[in-house]
Amino acid sequence: MGSILILFAFTVYHRQVEDEMRELDTQIYREAKRIAALTTYQKQGESWSIDTENVSFRNSDGLESKIIYVRWYDFRQRLLQFTGHSPRQRTPITPGWKILKYDCRSDGATQQKNLRRLTLPLQDGESPVGYLQIAVSLEPLEESLARSRLFLSLGIPVALIFTGIVGWILGSFAMRPARRSYEQLQRFTADASHELRAPISAILSNAQVGLLAPAEDEQQPRQRLSNIVTQSKSISALIANLLFLARHEGQLNPKDVAKTNIEELLSSLGSEYKTLAVEKGLEFHLLVPAKPLEIHSDPDLFKQAIRNLLDNAIKYTSPEGRVDLELVVKPRRILITVKDTGIGIPAADLPHIFERFYRVDKARTRQTGGFGLGLAIAQQIIQAHDGKITVESEFGKGTMFQICLPLRP
Ligand code: ADP
Repeated sequence: MGSILILFAFTVYHRQVEDEMRELDTQIYREAKRIAALTTYQKQGESWSIDTENVSFRNSDGLESKIIYVRWYDFRQRLLQFTGHSPRQRTPITPGWKILKYDCRSDGATQQKNLRRLTLPLQDGESPVGYLQIAVSLEPLEESLARSRLFLSLGIPVALIFTGIVGWILGSFAMRPARRSYEQLQRFTADASHELRAPISAILSNAQVGLLAPAEDEQQPRQRLSNIVTQSKSISALIANLLFLARHEGQLNPKDVAKTNIEELLSSLGSEYKTLAVEKGLEFHLLVPAKPLEIHSDPDLFKQAIRNLLDNAIKYTSPEGRVDLELVVKPRRILITVKDTGIGIPAADLPHIFERFYRVDKARTRQTGGFGLGLAIAQQIIQAHDGKITVESEFGKGTMFQICLPLRP
């Protein structure tokens, strides 16, 4: 940004020098032509006489105050007449533009200043008559350029500081989501490795102890093998969950999306979970409208999301409790509620409940076989359906998960 600004300032300054110089040269050239037209020459034998009586600087387009001198020469380069600054020494005359230094006396001191001089050849028809020199002070132009230099040299650091501060603020805003997802990914990798390490260590130690058992002991290796099977099933379930999360990230596969009768889908899940709930001594209530309603969804994924909620409701509700599955149809959306009268979730844990590997009580959920991925999977599925899943819970009293899905025509 700094180099762009400096380059920009250089370009602007260079363009200004070029433009102001071109404008001054045009003025000088126009003035020289005007003076040349007002000057009359007369040949007297071999030499020329000039008459500058008609020459006036009144219509000089603002240039008269800047003119340092005007000089008329004959074609032998002899000075015929001049106004303004008197010539010090004779120098050879070459037509064209030049920038020169001249001594300027002000307040008793002599200063060297720059002037712009045009030497214009004068002609009478085809024959050369002489030269007209007009020199103009560059002081006003230099003052204007000095002002621009000052403005740019103060403006650039200020602009740099300003853009630096704004860039830093905007950069930190823009980096926030990237940093958050990087942290999430790091946490996810660490959690997944941790979750895999525990059953693998258990498998290893069971295998080692089983191998060390005396040959006549048949019971112990069998018990160890049974432990290994349990741990392997746990790893397999974890890997299946991780694969599920990775495969179904983002959009739904259009091939799998179909018109689904939501009333039918929930009724079949209801009867399946009613049996499980009753087995555990829970009351189960299914409340869905009798009218069939079709939604666009991936039915397998959708079932998986509701299953995860119902599994939790049954898992975290003690016998004699109650679990409800309810569908409410609104004009533009449907609401699916899974409600239980279970142990509830502490308020401090509620904001993290949908994070991957988040469990309220790790020690307890490890015993019940949870990895803390069920709700993350449910949320991912519902979001892929353009829906939203929310939770309300009161610790010790119960929990309610609600899915809100938009109804598309
Ligand atoms: P898990 O497989 O461990 O149940 P989830 O992602 O499904 O993982 O749930 C995350 C955590 O949320 C659980 O460990 C549990 O503590 C809490 N939780 C989820 N649903 C309920 C519920 N209905 N009642 C109480 N706690 C719940």
